[in-house]
Amino acid sequence: MSSLVVVGSVAIDSIKTPFGERERSLGGSATHFSASASFYTDVAVVAVIGDDFTAEDEAVFHERKVNIANLKRVAGGQTFRWVGEYGFDLNTAVTKDTQLNVFADFKPELSQDARNAPFLFLGNIQPTLQREVREQSNAKFVAMDTMNLWIDIARDELIKTINVVDAIIINDAEARQLAQEANLVTAAKKILSFGPKIAIIKRGEYGASFFTKDVFFAIPAYPLESVFDPTGAGDSFAGGFMGSLASADKLDEHALRRAIVYGSVMASYNVEEFSCDRLRRLTPDEIKTRVQEFKDFTHFEI
Ligand code: AMP
Repeated sequence: MSSLVVVGSVAIDSIKTPFGERERSLGGSATHFSASASFYTDVAVVAVIGDDFTAEDEAVFHERKVNIANLKRVAGGQTFRWVGEYGFDLNTAVTKDTQLNVFADFKPELSQDARNAPFLFLGNIQPTLQREVREQSNAKFVAMDTMNLWIDIARDELIKTINVVDAIIINDAEARQLAQEANLVTAAKKILSFGPKIAIIKRGEYGASFFTKDVFFAIPAYPLESVFDPTGAGDSFAGGFMGSLASADKLDEHALRRAIVYGSVMASYNVEEFSCDRLRRLTPDEIKTRVQEFKDFTHFEI
């Protein structure tokens, strides 16, 4: 049985960064999320692909033992495509093209196993689809992501979805845009007023902050010199975060703080190479090393 389910995109990306480009790069929010979460727990993907999705594209799910019983293949359809570019500010992706393709008519239908998974992540995809999945799920903890596109074109739908989750994990620019507030603390408070108990705001190379009504916690990003392709940083963060919570099966403050560190470690590895390439060769010992380093470089005494 899967303890964690993710709905999101499985994509074929074209990526350009200041350090290189890749024309056909396996991507998508659900792909990056599940590859990351698979280091911690059994994870199942709810998504859709087309005929053009090859056995080689699918290999990462098999290698990482991700459950793809809910990954639907549409005959005659094309997989979701995203074309993105980054300048030297690697925190901001510029979308050059988005083709929804098979996602345009996708009606997610969760298997019984997926409905009963205790942890659910609504990865970046249309907010109505996210809500359809949330309505089918019996999960006890639900988190979600989104992006500027949906804040621009589907804000009301998005706020309805935010209202039915426990946690939202978004980046700082999205938080400001969503809350219509310049100050991040005020923005976080406003987002909490939409319904969730937890708001996690990712700040790229500056780290991540955690807000509830009563608690604030923040950590820096892993100090990395070798950022190569930031695509999927947010999803691998969320995968580490949700995977670690699902594996501990706890939601207390200690578990949540630890989960943010695991999320940050996974994101730090993911950005070292294109696509999921780095996570495909990642080892549990490497994760352990960076978790310890996080502990060391955030420790101080009064
Ligand atoms: P991030 O973790 O934010 O860097 O997510 C990157 C992934 O999001 C890429 O692999 C894209 O395929 C995917 N993506 C980009 N735009 C969209 C969209 N409109 N809907 C769903 N997924 C998207």
